[in-house]
Amino acid sequence: MVDPTETSDDFLPEALRFRSPAPLVDIGANLTHESFARDLDAVIARARAANVTGLILTGTDREHAEQAVALARCHAGLYATAGVHPHDASRWDASLQQAMRELHRQPEVVAVGECGLDFNRNFSTPAEQERAFEAQLGLAVECGKPLFIHERDAGKRMRDTLHAGRDDLPGAVIHCFTADRETLYGYRDLDLHIGLTGWICDERRGHHLRELVGEVPRDRLMVETDCPYLLPRNLPAKLKGRRHEPSLLPWIVREIAHWQGVSEVELAQATSQTARAFFRLAETEDPNVAGTFQQEEH
Ligand SMILES: [Zn+2]
Repeated sequence: MVDPTETSDDFLPEALRFRSPAPLVDIGANLTHESFARDLDAVIARARAANVTGLILTGTDREHAEQAVALARCHAGLYATAGVHPHDASRWDASLQQAMRELHRQPEVVAVGECGLDFNRNFSTPAEQERAFEAQLGLAVECGKPLFIHERDAGKRMRDTLHAGRDDLPGAVIHCFTADRETLYGYRDLDLHIGLTGWICDERRGHHLRELVGEVPRDRLMVETDCPYLLPRNLPAKLKGRRHEPSLLPWIVREIAHWQGVSEVELAQATSQTARAFFRLAETEDPNVAGTFQQEEH
């Protein structure tokens, strides 16, 4: 048994043991990434100790989505998304589409994605990306679950594509928003949700977000680590291995709250309420209630 109120190991330096004043939902955690294979239970325990009680595991391809569903099945407070990342869009075909459709029927899957357009790296061609994204947009309409979208350097094309299909979509979040004001307002016009990461903590490329965070409507903003990627660059202590994890989400919330001019608790409550409504998560998940926690320990 692990006592969730204590950190289960001494992996995190004292200065990085945050605790959010209100429960948080990390809407983008890549916990099926190989870097978590060795100590996943400890990572989840540290997230709970930090009061990050909801974790949405990003499924970026068939294999990872299936792993995310399996994890969500045996841990309370964990959910999964299922999609094909734009980097892998060239692999999209009828059998993959059918596999995704079946994944979307699982109750653990709360969104279609990660899918989208990434014209920054073009690991798949833009045409392949558009084809896979449009197909997944159709799957979201079909299953009635929201889209979890990745967009980089493709804001205009993304807005045009969504504009055509927006009315039939139950909802869509632009995860890890990093773009400019014009793109943000385009997304606002489409009534999209916005996911913010620790990108805002990056003095090399993220400080433009400081002025923009106040312009994301309060009830459209959600927060995420995108771990193991995007470790905040302004953490108050060094982290062994430099792997980002959900227990550090309170630091990002604190940063966003600062630049929005609101309190940390207010922002934590608002983003969690938004995430629970958007992904239709169970009302309360209090892992600090002993009974809830015991049920899921095998
Ligand atoms: Zn992404």
